[in-house]
Order: sequence, then C-alpha cells, then structure tokens
Amino acid sequence: MVKAEQVWKSFGQLEVLKGIDLEVRNGEVVCVIGPSGSGKSTFLRCLNHLEKINAGRLWVNGQLMGYRQRGDKLHELREKEVAAQRRDIGMVFQRFNLFPHMTALENVVEAPIRVKRQAKASAMERGRELLTRVGLGDRCDSYPSQLSGGQQQRVAIARALAMEPKLMLFDEPTSALDPELVGEVLGVMRELALDGMTMVVVTHEMGFAREVADRVVFMDGGVVVEEGPPSQVIGDPKHERTRAFLSRVL
Ligand code: ATP
Ligand code: MG
Repeated sequence: MVKAEQVWKSFGQLEVLKGIDLEVRNGEVVCVIGPSGSGKSTFLRCLNHLEKINAGRLWVNGQLMGYRQRGDKLHELREKEVAAQRRDIGMVFQRFNLFPHMTALENVVEAPIRVKRQAKASAMERGRELLTRVGLGDRCDSYPSQLSGGQQQRVAIARALAMEPKLMLFDEPTSALDPELVGEVLGVMRELALDGMTMVVVTHEMGFAREVADRVVFMDGGVVVEEGPPSQVIGDPKHERTRAFLSRVL
C-alpha cells in the first residue's frame, strides 16, 4: 500500500528526512513515534505529496506519488493528477480543520458531492451512516463550534472516510484534545483498524500503539532508528535512542 524508498527532504539548509525506507502493507496499522522535530509530520506530508521530496521514491496504492516514470526519467504530474492520487488518501490532523460555517453532515458530504460528484441524497445518506459509525448520528446538524474537540475530531475522521480512502494518515489526532476526550477518538480509530483500514498514525499514545499497531516505527533526526512489533519497539527497544525517548514519554 505504501512504499518509501530512500526519501530525503530538506527545507533550505535544514535536512529533515535523511533516507527514509518504509513499507506498509494492505490492512496494516503502523504507528510512527519519535521526538519533536524528528520529521514525522514532514514524512506524512510527503506521503500525499503536500511536500515535494528531494530524492527517493514514494508509492501509495501502486502509484508513484507526484510523478510519472518514463524510462529512467521522472515527469512531474499536473496538480489535477496529484489531486486524483490524493483522493485515495484520507488525512486527519492534530487540529480539527472542519469548515466552521458548515454542519457536521455538510462537512462530511462536501467533498463527495463536489469532488466525486455524488448525488446529494445518497451522499447525505452515506454521510449520516458515517457520522453514526463515529458515534455522532444525533449530531449531524451541529456546527463545529457546538461540538467538543473529540466530537470535532470524529467528524474529521468521518469526513476523510466519506471519500472512501484506501489509506488513512493521522498526525497526532488526539494531542490537541483534553485528556478525557482522547479515548473516544482512539476508540473510533481502533474500530477502523479492526475493520481492516490501512493506517499510518503519528502518535504519542503509547497505549494505542501497543494495542492497535501491527508495527511501530521510531524516528529520530530524520531517520528510522528502529521498527518492529510494538512489543519489541516499545516493550524491549534495541537502540539507546529509542530507550531514551520512551523513558521520557512512558
Ligand atoms: P512534532 O512531534 O513536534 O510534531 P515532527 O516530528 O512532526 O515534530 P516535523 O514537523 O516534521 O517534526 O518537523 C521536522 C523539522 O522540519 C523541524 O525542525 C521543523 O522546524 C522543520 N520544518 C517542518 N516544516 C517546515 C517548513 N515548511 N519549512 C521549514 N522548516 C520546516
Ligand atoms: Mg508533527
């Protein structure tokens, strides 16, 4: 589903990703952990080509992100073609970036209607189903300002799912939430994982990573320091850097 091969990314002089290799198989849940500034968000943004990489290759769902290969040469895709690639990738950020002037349901159906040209009635029906699935069937007509952070984040997940993505990317989806609201969002993500969704989750929630992840990737300084099953990476890390990080967050 995802393949990253020697991905390098810098911002000016600052090298942020220094040769990331990573594979995520269909239906797999991979949690990415690591200190602040290690490049986790940058890597996620590269995955859907919100950032252009400086070297390496990235495939999502069998497609080379952002480029077309002819012989040895790479040709940049047009914005429209990149947008088509991104349609298979759902993304949920730390800050619930819902449209404030739209209800929960309107937020969820906006892209299916506008981008996928779904008929309004069926999009609304599906939207209600999705909101019910995230436990908000009774809040379809609420505006974001009338919802808690946890509820807003669940709307954001429903909105991403409405596009029927093949891959879901989460960037610290619970770190802006009050502690008592974290569980409800993680619960929805756990259900999604059990349903077989392929997920890459940047998180500081070690409990979630331990329980839900098939694999944990520890990043530090723009490289993957170690990866493996959660029981190994979190329970019995090989590297000193991983141990030092875990001793700070656990
Ligand atoms: P955190 O845990 O704090 O979210 P992170 O691992 O997600 O950290 P990134 O956000 O990927 O880290 O940032 C990695 C480095 O890249 C940081 O030093 C950051 O300042 C820098 N950086 C990120 N985006 C940009 C940008 N658009 N322009 C310049 N520097 C950037
Ligand atoms: Mg980040």
